[in-house]
Amino acid sequence: KLIVFEGIEGCGKTTQIQQIQPWLADRLSLNHSPGGKLHQPGVQVTREPGGTQLGQHLRDLLLHHEINEPLSDRSELLLYAADRAQHIETLIKPLLDQGTMILCDRFTDSTLAYQGYGRGLDLQQIHQINQIATGGLVPDLTLWLNVPVEAGLTRIKARKKADRIEQADLEFHYRVAEGFATLAKMYPQRIVPIDGNGDRDRVTQQIQNILNQKLLE
Ligand code: C5P
Ligand code: MG
Repeated sequence: KLIVFEGIEGCGKTTQIQQIQPWLADRLSLNHSPGGKLHQPGVQVTREPGGTQLGQHLRDLLLHHEINEPLSDRSELLLYAADRAQHIETLIKPLLDQGTMILCDRFTDSTLAYQGYGRGLDLQQIHQINQIATGGLVPDLTLWLNVPVEAGLTRIKARKKADRIEQADLEFHYRVAEGFATLAKMYPQRIVPIDGNGDRDRVTQQIQNILNQKLLE
């Protein structure tokens, strides 16, 4: 199964994935092997951009690029798509084939939210490019960690030097946040909203409840 975590800067995706990974691995090994470690499917964490070697180069280019010309919105879109195509072909598909559970930090909805709602590129075209990049692979579950823009930005400012996107103007971040909210309304059967604006362990608990309901029954 492919489980995706989405949301704006500082929404807590990465922290939550780290909390959920060992919990889920435990949960699965209990389900699978009453008598020992017979078949342990495992839980793998990955992210976009940057889940492969090519992806890591693209991530560096996209987030800290030091070329002396502006990165055009459409090149940006296609670089994220290239990252995703490589990620799916070389990592995600092979892992899914062997029954591994994947927790992925960002996926196609980030492209719609950032390059579509944020940059203003045509949403229909982004759907097509997502389709090309994924070859039609759709996550089994997408968890959208919903936090207010200011709260998210305050969290990331507290932790490190901001990357190129994190430094973008506030209006951009509002459009992206609005984008995620719109997507969650448009695809309620695929995207589950999580209130990400509280205590870390309470958010983890909500996610565990959803996973128990949707995947582990
Ligand atoms: O979540 P994380 O900080 O790892 O994401 C990396 C960066 O890539 C973020 O700053 C995010 O704004 C940006 N991004 C983007 N468009 C995407 C995916 C990520 O601008 N489609
Ligand atoms: Mg970031």
